[in-house]
Amino acid sequence: MRLLWLRNDLRLDDHSGWQRLADYSGDAAAVFILPAHWRATDKDGLHRLGAARAAYLQQALADLSERLATFPLTLLEGDPVALLLAWHRQQPFELVTHAAQAPEEADWLTRLSDAGVPLHTFEAQPLFDPQQVEPLFTAFPASFTGFRKQVEKKPAWPVPAPQPAMDVSGLRAAACHLTTGIHWPAAPGAPAHPAWLGGETAARGWLHHYLFEQRALTHYKASRNELTGRYFSSHLSAALAWGCLSPRAVWHRILAYEQQWGSDEHSYWLRFELLWREYFHWSLRVHGSQLFAAGGLTGKAVTGVFNAEYWQAWCQARTGWPMIDAGLKELVTTGFCSNRLRQNLASCFIHELGLDWRLGARFFEQHLVDFDVASNWGNWAYIAGAGHDPRQGRHFSPHRQWRQYDPGLTHLHQWLPELGPVTLEQVERHQRGEQLLNYPAPLVLLEC
Ligand SMILES: Cc1cc2nc3c(=O)[nH]c(=O)nc-3n(C[C@H](O)[C@H](O)[C@H](O)COP(=O)(O)OP(=O)(O)OC[C@H]3O[C@@H](n4cnc5c(N)ncnc54)[C@H](O)[C@@H]3O)c2cc1C
Repeated sequence: MRLLWLRNDLRLDDHSGWQRLADYSGDAAAVFILPAHWRATDKDGLHRLGAARAAYLQQALADLSERLATFPLTLLEGDPVALLLAWHRQQPFELVTHAAQAPEEADWLTRLSDAGVPLHTFEAQPLFDPQQVEPLFTAFPASFTGFRKQVEKKPAWPVPAPQPAMDVSGLRAAACHLTTGIHWPAAPGAPAHPAWLGGETAARGWLHHYLFEQRALTHYKASRNELTGRYFSSHLSAALAWGCLSPRAVWHRILAYEQQWGSDEHSYWLRFELLWREYFHWSLRVHGSQLFAAGGLTGKAVTGVFNAEYWQAWCQARTGWPMIDAGLKELVTTGFCSNRLRQNLASCFIHELGLDWRLGARFFEQHLVDFDVASNWGNWAYIAGAGHDPRQGRHFSPHRQWRQYDPGLTHLHQWLPELGPVTLEQVERHQRGEQLLNYPAPLVLLEC
């Protein structure tokens, strides 16, 4: 028997795992296992399956089951290694699964292999083949620019073409005798943005709509730093993080768009951002658990303390900085906020509050619908000065940022309507310590 273990590759399109099942003459099965520890709350009150992530995942699995039609997708919840070994004892199988991104997954695969489970891995998350990137492993580029220049150097590395979706109707299904099912907290409601409807079907629809119906790529580079709106950026991150879309498929759809409408700085820039994702992915493969240490990739002590008052205020979106609280409210309510807001939230957490960047990264991990281990931890480390290109970390000037990115206070009014009709100047003065607004005083005064 061959068992395909799906993790964050929840699609049929461009997926060599399904191909490996189809190439096999014996019985086949496919399983997704929700790791039980994702739901366990830690000492800081955090877990790894916030409402937005849970809803997306639930919908993505339902969509995949529907696409598979008569071929069953087994759903389990518990310790992935223990469950797979129990199944293997009942009925030996060869395990097919995509290569590990994070050390935790690498550990799962090692333990299964050590226990005698034959293992075949394939790639489902990156753009490039490992053979293309491996020459960089011995001296992995210290900056994104170094990586990008390697990729774009003539002749540029080709992004392999995506494989067409597999026809699974001929697979012979093996039964699972374990207790199956996942306990979902609630039926997901309608998401606040169409791109957060989980699953390959919705993701493909959104990609087509964004590129070819709305043609929102015509302004991508100019609008990607905005804070609100449906089309300011691609909103593809959740589909990519859960593997409902393959990055290669997205890349090639952008090329198809460029063929039809011509390439420009905007279409190039969306591919440029996909290269950022790629850079963080391969960096995590190369650096492994080092990324999760306080000093991150630098190995140096990166200061950060625990302050219970600051932490509680952060979790309740009551830092007394209306702009940051609005961003936190958006993140916790929807599971998303723009890249510009993420940068500012992280900068305030690390550089104004002086908290440990890893706590902030775990907070995002719980809430983000598009949580991606490499991109989240890579970006947090980058802003803390513990990642690539460390310099002094990225310390943003909050007032300057808001003058530039939310001068009309559109985002602020949307997420903190209780503030009423305030002006940017009043908010800035409040954040500097003048008690002008009927709002909690700032934890720390924001001078600039
Ligand atoms: C502190 C912090 C934490 C982050 N955590 C995550 C995370 O957990 N998951 C995640 O996918 N992105 C993360 N990002 C990157 C970025 O903010 C999101 O990818 C982006 O906001 C998602 O919206 P979009 O799909 O509309 O992006 P677009 O601007 O449309 O970009 C297209 C795609 O490119 C990739 N991308 C864009 N910017 C980055 C970046 N800086 N780093 C890596 N990939 C990028 C994403 O896959 C994104 O979907 C984080 C950024 C910061 C500053």
